[in-house]
Amino acid sequence: MNESMCRVQRGSFVYYTCRRIPVRHAFTTKFGGVSTGACESLNLGFNRGDELENVRENYRLLGEALGVDETRMTLTKQIHDTQVSVVTEDKVGMGLHRPMEWQSDAIVTALADTPIIGFYADCVVTLLYDPATHTAGVCHSGWRGMAAGILPKTVDVMAEQLGTKRESLIAVLGPSIRQECFETDADVPEAMEELLGAQVHPFIMEKGPKFHVDLQGIGVKLLQDAGLSAENVIDSGICTMCHSDEFWSHRVTHGVRGVQGGMICL
Ligand SMILES: [Zn+2]
Repeated sequence: MNESMCRVQRGSFVYYTCRRIPVRHAFTTKFGGVSTGACESLNLGFNRGDELENVRENYRLLGEALGVDETRMTLTKQIHDTQVSVVTEDKVGMGLHRPMEWQSDAIVTALADTPIIGFYADCVVTLLYDPATHTAGVCHSGWRGMAAGILPKTVDVMAEQLGTKRESLIAVLGPSIRQECFETDADVPEAMEELLGAQVHPFIMEKGPKFHVDLQGIGVKLLQDAGLSAENVIDSGICTMCHSDEFWSHRVTHGVRGVQGGMICL
């Protein structure tokens, strides 16, 4: 685990934060909610076969634990693509208190008291915060989104539409499946190389007929190439598969699971 990461426990509620981000934020774990069965207990997904009212209660508990306004929580819609949307006042609450109108794996905002949330259970959720302009973002990327460049695109949209300064922007890559656990066939490294070129070679390891891709390493490099300084790009270093006692890992559970959230609120 990166030395700037903290594990916080309040009663049964457990989440991770990063000391580098001075605004309210969290990477949630399985713990602290009311769901049961495969979704026990803090499932934040409405598409996991969980009881609707339990998921709603979990969001209320998240708001309570983090001291954020649950009625203004705004969610990503994750389709492994590269759409980035700006959360303006007319979009607040989307995905939780009003129908989802976007298909955006990343959402960014300059609005205060507006928690924005992305989801993970092996995928990489990155929280972004710029202290110079007080702007924030959340970006979901599995290997498809990472290969397609959604992380640098999120930085571009923040810079172009919110005035975010790349040189002061901080990014934290949250708990996610890491290279030693992320075993794939050739399709994953081939897609990476096709879209990102030879720069991905140092992040791909061959083990017999299989491959291990360092998604976080690629993400860090892409963010630095997008103008962030090396000390402002933080890899949490936490593997969801190694720590499946605390996190839902898609691979470990074979998809029968709840889902965690990465949240940031100005
Ligand atoms: Zn692992």
